[in-house]
Amino acid sequence: MADYLRTLFLHPPSFEGFDGGAGARYQARREVRSFWYPTWLAQPAALVPGSRLVDAPPAGLGLADVVPLARDYDLAVLHTSTPSFPHDVRVAEALKAANPALRVGFVGAHVAVHREAALEASRAIDFVASNEFDFTIQEVAQGRDLAAVHGLSYRVNAHVVRTPERAVLEDMDRLPFVVDVYHRDLVVEQYFIGYLLHPYVSLYTGRGCRSRCTFCLWPQTVGGQRYRTRSVEHVVAEIARAQRHFPQVREYFFDDDTFTDDLPRAEAIARGLGRLGVTWSCNAKANVPYATLKVLKDHGLRLLLVGYESGSQAILNRIKKGIRLDVAREFTRNAKALGIKIHGTFIMGLPGETPETIQATIRFAQEIDPDTIQVSLAAPYPGTALHREAVEHGWLAEDGLVDGDGVQTSALSYPGLPRTEIFTSVDRFYRRFYFRPRKIFALTTEMVRDPAMGRRRLREGRDFLRFLRRRRHGQ
Ligand code: SF4
Repeated sequence: MADYLRTLFLHPPSFEGFDGGAGARYQARREVRSFWYPTWLAQPAALVPGSRLVDAPPAGLGLADVVPLARDYDLAVLHTSTPSFPHDVRVAEALKAANPALRVGFVGAHVAVHREAALEASRAIDFVASNEFDFTIQEVAQGRDLAAVHGLSYRVNAHVVRTPERAVLEDMDRLPFVVDVYHRDLVVEQYFIGYLLHPYVSLYTGRGCRSRCTFCLWPQTVGGQRYRTRSVEHVVAEIARAQRHFPQVREYFFDDDTFTDDLPRAEAIARGLGRLGVTWSCNAKANVPYATLKVLKDHGLRLLLVGYESGSQAILNRIKKGIRLDVAREFTRNAKALGIKIHGTFIMGLPGETPETIQATIRFAQEIDPDTIQVSLAAPYPGTALHREAVEHGWLAEDGLVDGDGVQTSALSYPGLPRTEIFTSVDRFYRRFYFRPRKIFALTTEMVRDPAMGRRRLREGRDFLRFLRRRRHGQ
């Protein structure tokens, strides 16, 4: 076995409660305390023997906690994102000050898109990696000369140089199991997602998405617009391993961009999971046919996370969602008839939004009535077609994607639709969706049936109301 540098994989501390880019697609502090697993970092960590993964936000670690770690390592790999980049640079500088010999690298969509600018931001960053960085980091950790590692940018004197691009990973079974790293370095009880059972574990069974939604970050940067998948056997074996590591886990979540992009494979994985007897959930597009939904449900599927985005067909067409509202309606009816729960996600402020389309989307959500919803503000991340469109048309606000507390801001505005109106539409959407008798009844019934869930819903309900109050007062 090759010798490896002592390597620290760090999801840095930034805003309090910040759900960052090593796991979350759209990085922000959420309505209720939520954390995705830092799977993008766990994958290279699994390739580097003796490494350690530190996920600062869910562990409640601040700068003072992570800086002393610098002295124990030769290499630190930090996952960054557009909203957290300035914070992450400060963390890198503090690590470097504590150990000037430490080699510091940044990974993630933000630096893959802006490699030169990232390196120019601070001398504390020694290199940045391009999109798919697992084996890039493994080779750096083997102590290879940076010039010999594909998929890197680094500084030579005052100049930034790029090595040749790294080939896209096709044999996804080469990625080792992340659950071993989770078991070694993370505390599963620290990870919450409001609509998932607790504790949960999430991981990826593939990368990329066949759809071309203009706003969507990962397929346009780190994942690609094809669905590259691990074999069914590899996925089922990892869940079986996870069951041994985490007997307390109540739900597994497959966080592939669109797990249902390959229906026969989704059904085959479901059958394997059924044999293990686990409860599981996944991301899905609102076009999965009834027959597949039935197979998934019969083998342990509990919930689908579905990006409906808008109730306006014109907006869906404009953002290239590739979905028809009538198909989404039928899919939702079918899922409900089978007893599959749905967490529906919507976006306010996409191109083409007007006061009328906002109303139409709220009415659409009320009509299809997912069990729970999440309403986000359109976020033009660098590297996406939406960002390019926003720059071209002058829709971008000056002050970034999140505010000083890490909460999403309305970064876009349009002629006839100011950003303040887009911002307040989120609050209106939540109130008109949740403060309905049928919704209150459904949530109360769920709380009575499952007292543990009830306690959690009460806590989250308090967080949620605080969140709405805070938004209303513009704090
Ligand atoms: S279907 Fe979902 S994951 Fe795929 S590009 Fe669209 S928003 Fe992204």
